[in-house]
Amino acid sequence: LVGEQICEALAEPYWVDGESLLLGCSLGLAHANSVSAADPLMWHANIAMQQAKGQQGCAYHVYDERITRDARGQTDLEGELRRALRRDELVLHYQPRLCLKAGRVVGLEALVRWQHPERGLLPPSEFVPLAEESGLIVPLGYWVISRALRDMQWLLGRGLPPLHMAVNLSFRQFQDSQLLPTLSRLIAERGVDARWLEFELTETAIMRRSDQVQQTMLALGELGVRFSLDDFGTGFSSFVHLNNLPITLLKIDKSFVGGMTERTENRQLVRAMINLAHNLNLEVVAEGVEDTEQMMLLRQFGCDQAQGYLISKGLPLNELVRFLMQAPRHAQLGMAQN
Ligand code: C2E
Ligand code: CA
Ligand code: CA
Repeated sequence: LVGEQICEALAEPYWVDGESLLLGCSLGLAHANSVSAADPLMWHANIAMQQAKGQQGCAYHVYDERITRDARGQTDLEGELRRALRRDELVLHYQPRLCLKAGRVVGLEALVRWQHPERGLLPPSEFVPLAEESGLIVPLGYWVISRALRDMQWLLGRGLPPLHMAVNLSFRQFQDSQLLPTLSRLIAERGVDARWLEFELTETAIMRRSDQVQQTMLALGELGVRFSLDDFGTGFSSFVHLNNLPITLLKIDKSFVGGMTERTENRQLVRAMINLAHNLNLEVVAEGVEDTEQMMLLRQFGCDQAQGYLISKGLPLNELVRFLMQAPRHAQLGMAQN
């Protein structure tokens, strides 16, 4: 109905300098009740919009499952992704996290990529939403955790000090009843000290089905695993919930950090988030730190850690080792702005 109204309103001719202009519009609509995150929802809306574009003039289309199957039939990305898992085409890149006080790397975030045989290295935005939507995120997620645990041990074996390893967990992974036993098994098999393992969850993931999520988080917390709240500020958190969950870290979304030098509001927001986190006894990580000015402000505001291109982008394991060996450079990054 809203789609119809928008189309009708836009179909009216516009008068510009005495001439009439006609605008076309194509609307794609998708319902939020069948998906768990914003990305697949946008993806559905996009598929519906492609359908609408196939029609004349102003048109809207509501997403339905059958179209997805057709759309997928064309590319068969899901099948390819399934094969990719079997053929070991996924890779992890690790982005360092810098402690601003100590001026050294204290943690890593595992970021998945797909080394596609024809299309090259694909970022998660190209396949994680699909994996979430199809349920493949569950085996994919286990692969990520297992590889991250293996690489943690490998880094220790190279004589490097232990680092916190952060792995992104999507909401769908909590729906898997085997999450807890599988994780316990993987941790034990790899012989990792669980206290160095950290899961990043978004606000939306935590706020949905909070009972089940809370139980699993508490049980994992018992193993020593830590949790951080990812993309903080972009979703909706209830502080009542935050207090009941074993969260130790808050990651300020890069959209706030990004505009910090230009926009006073962003600066104030970031400062407020840092204070809020500290009042809740949480550590704060600023994401998306790209220049020294941002770094300087973050240090002023008492932010604990920073992550971003200024320090390093996500690196494959061999490059990461080289990076970690150049320790003095990080010290400069962390301290130079005093
Ligand atoms: P995220 O968890 O917010 O990860 C941070 C993203 O910001 C990464 O993008 C990283 O490369 C990028 N980034 C880091 N520093 C900067 C910076 O200074 N400036 C800018 N503009 N960007 C920066 P990436 O690797 O493309 O990952 C995108 C998203 O995909 C992640 O967002 C995360 O939500 C998801 N993702 C990645 N790996 C996994 C995974 O193993 N499992 C799941 N479920 N999701 C994953
Ligand atoms: Ca993350
Ligand atoms: Ca993030």
